Amino acid sequence: MTDTSESRWAIAIHGGAGSMTPETMDAAGAQAHEAALGVALDAGTAVLKAGGSALDAVCAAVSALEDDPHFNAGRGAVFTYHGTNELDAAVMEGATRGAGAVCGVTHTRNPVNLARTVMEKSPHVFLSGAGAEEFAREQGVEQVDPDWFATEARWQQLQELKAKKLGWFDAGLKYGTVGAVAVDASGHVAAATSTGGLTGKRWGRIGDSPLIGAGTYADDRAAAVSCTGSGEQFIRAAVAHEICARMRLGGEGPQAATEAVLGEVGAMGGVGGVIYVTPAGETGFAFTTPGMFRGRADSEGRREVGIFG
Ligand code: ASP
Repeated sequence: MTDTSESRWAIAIHGGAGSMTPETMDAAGAQAHEAALGVALDAGTAVLKAGGSALDAVCAAVSALEDDPHFNAGRGAVFTYHGTNELDAAVMEGATRGAGAVCGVTHTRNPVNLARTVMEKSPHVFLSGAGAEEFAREQGVEQVDPDWFATEARWQQLQELKAKKLGWFDAGLKYGTVGAVAVDASGHVAAATSTGGLTGKRWGRIGDSPLIGAGTYADDRAAAVSCTGSGEQFIRAAVAHEICARMRLGGEGPQAATEAVLGEVGAMGGVGGVIYVTPAGETGFAFTTPGMFRGRADSEGRREVGIFG
């Protein structure tokens, strides 16, 4: 057993970027979200402290956030226009650039675990809908009744959206996607992202979260990145990969690269947030919304969670 007491590690998580401000979110709501973020952060931290891999750590953190109804992933996911919950997730590891992703799943309790299973047990990277769940059942990935994902608060959000009669998904800054990035004692990075997408989405709409290079990317030569925000613009800017490319090819630091790419998203009319970690152990985030649910911890003793700008 390796002595991990001197090992360096770091983890950062997010629970979505959005319109939260101290004025719009009451103290009890803020406290509940901070507690939930803390649970997920501690789940990932425990893995890294014990000498576990960055991949295990991001999956532990994201599956905790998926199980928590406060966030738009797994249980508590937003509803589609037709009143279903359709879930998307991706994972990637920086050492091999191995990746796995799923979209439009409706029965898999922890989509991040299915994404990982796609990476490790299939010859593919990206599976969708019924086929993804056929694969999940074959692999023994936990399945649940779709009721598991449904919460009253999200149902009301759908009703509000429909009352506006926009016939379009919610562009009103109610995000809540979850993600994690980590670096382990070996200096390997990993990223994971999971989401229910946007309230009122239809026509099989998929956002950036499960798209490798858009909402999720990990490369030991640069960083691990997980995104949240207006998925259409994040896809067009290939945000997660673009940040890594600017670092690797342009020599930019992670914060400068992240802010530059979020600027490109803004120029396209999009908003959102990003978390990153580098193989050297540097964590950081940026967001162009009023708030982003977030947290980070590292082997230097840092442990913090935050919501507002
Ligand atoms: N980026 C996600 C999507 O477009 C939404 C979010 O971050 O909450 O599906």
